[in-house]
Amino acid sequence: MHGLMMQQPLLVASLLTHAERHHGEQEIVSRRVEGDIHRYRYRDLAQRARRLANALAGLGIGEGERVGTLAWNGYRHMELYFAVSGSGAVLHTLNPRLHVDQLAYIIDHADDRVIFFDLTFLPLIESVAPRIRSPKVFVAMTDRANMPATPDLPGMLMCYEDLIDGHGDDFTWPLLDENTASSLCYTSGTTGNPKGVLYSHRSTILHTYAAALPDSLNCSARDVILPVVPMFHVNAWGLPYIACMVGAKLVFPGPALDGKSLYELIEAEQVTLSAGVPTVWQGLLRHVAERGSTFTAMRRTIVGGAPCPTAMTTEFQERYHVDVLHAWGMTELSPVGTVCSFKGHHLSLPTQQRYAIQAKQGRAVFGIDMRIVGPDGEALPWDGRAAGDLQVRGPWVTTGYFGCDEASPLSDGWFPTGDVAKIDADGFMQITDRSKDVIKSGGEWISSIDIENVASLHPEVASAVCIAARHPKWDERPLLLIVKQPGSALESAELLDFFDGRVAKWWKPDAVVFIEALPLGATGKVLKNQLRDRFKDYYLMA
Ligand code: ADP
Repeated sequence: MHGLMMQQPLLVASLLTHAERHHGEQEIVSRRVEGDIHRYRYRDLAQRARRLANALAGLGIGEGERVGTLAWNGYRHMELYFAVSGSGAVLHTLNPRLHVDQLAYIIDHADDRVIFFDLTFLPLIESVAPRIRSPKVFVAMTDRANMPATPDLPGMLMCYEDLIDGHGDDFTWPLLDENTASSLCYTSGTTGNPKGVLYSHRSTILHTYAAALPDSLNCSARDVILPVVPMFHVNAWGLPYIACMVGAKLVFPGPALDGKSLYELIEAEQVTLSAGVPTVWQGLLRHVAERGSTFTAMRRTIVGGAPCPTAMTTEFQERYHVDVLHAWGMTELSPVGTVCSFKGHHLSLPTQQRYAIQAKQGRAVFGIDMRIVGPDGEALPWDGRAAGDLQVRGPWVTTGYFGCDEASPLSDGWFPTGDVAKIDADGFMQITDRSKDVIKSGGEWISSIDIENVASLHPEVASAVCIAARHPKWDERPLLLIVKQPGSALESAELLDFFDGRVAKWWKPDAVVFIEALPLGATGKVLKNQLRDRFKDYYLMA
């Protein structure tokens, strides 16, 4: 209709164009895999991303095709974020913490045309490569001087810096339909094989606007942002895009995620805002406490992926004057769903009451609709008492999984999160339980079903159940409950050894408890809840 607003598609490349024009001098600092610190500006990022886009075209990567990355947080990964999506291909960030079999499955399922990797992951690439469909092109994210001498790879190996050097920066970002796919991230949160969540340009831009708001992640041009949350984990919670939108300085930690390295980087670069899972902050807080140091610039930290313990919030806020922003999200939600920022009337509450609020996962950011439902699908009241299945909908919530022909996960247009929650009258959501059968250790998923399947392969195991038990360091760790075959003298150590090579090392349960029989329901199903109630504190008591 005449006089209406322009139809400008919402595109990922426009974030980069904006950052180049309005914040071209702003810095991006990265600790490199090579060990040194690299720094350049948004101007350089934009220019190198265009050269990389030309290189991708030279490799024959077409619109909609997938480009895999196996990389830490760093400037080259950032260049891929924009070059791949911006040119119409799909950025597929691979999680290096997965078992090689799972990685191979995901690479083949996504049909990645080329894989970019940090040198740290060369051994991983060497084990994955023979298991995936060839031919494959691998690009080592380094310069000629650091290229591996004789890698054992069935396919072509290229050098990242050579690729960039071989191309000019004359590239015009295509005017794509905003509903074109931009990136892809697999989650192994549910049972069965990992499933891919496909983001679009439109969903990414809308999520970026909403997540940057003052009551969301609260980012501005005056911030120095350190995303500790990996770029292979739901787009580092959207921070690479947000930083471009607002013009914040970015600091990337590379592979060094221990307390000492993080602290040094935070201080040297005067980081104001950081983001990560509780496990990472534990390491940082321990280091700072041991040294008796303080944070001279850091004022806020985003904690998500797992519940933020009140003791951690208290320590950050009272000892270091760093405000904790407790957030909840999921891969399926791009990921931000709720953020716990106070309303005006909370500010005058007594301290303990404010901490009780901060233990909640927070209120929905604009764009996310949420509700809790009871067993019959009826919506439950927001009274802070009723707990039900948490469902969400919105323009950055997935409708299903990439290349998956299973029935849609949606129920009545709502996405079931698998989390169980309460919501109070102010709209603050608090997770109380999880209905999905998974374990979340240090912010990463472990499939309890996969663990049970491996245990069941052992000839002396009659039945196996794996539950999430609370853990002081990792939030949750797998605990294996086993009924032995009659007459068996099987011991824990032998059964645990059986996991070596069959699952990723950190998936191996920490302990085995032998029990006489499993509690069964009327239909013969194992009552996992009963086992969870009985054993969930096993590691806390150990
Ligand atoms: P992310 O770890 O980035 O949030 P995932 O898709 O890996 O994304 O995991 C999502 C799940 O993690 C949620 O469904 C929920 O079970 C759990 N989770 C995420 N954030 C929190 C939080 N703040 N408190 C409790 N659980 C959380």
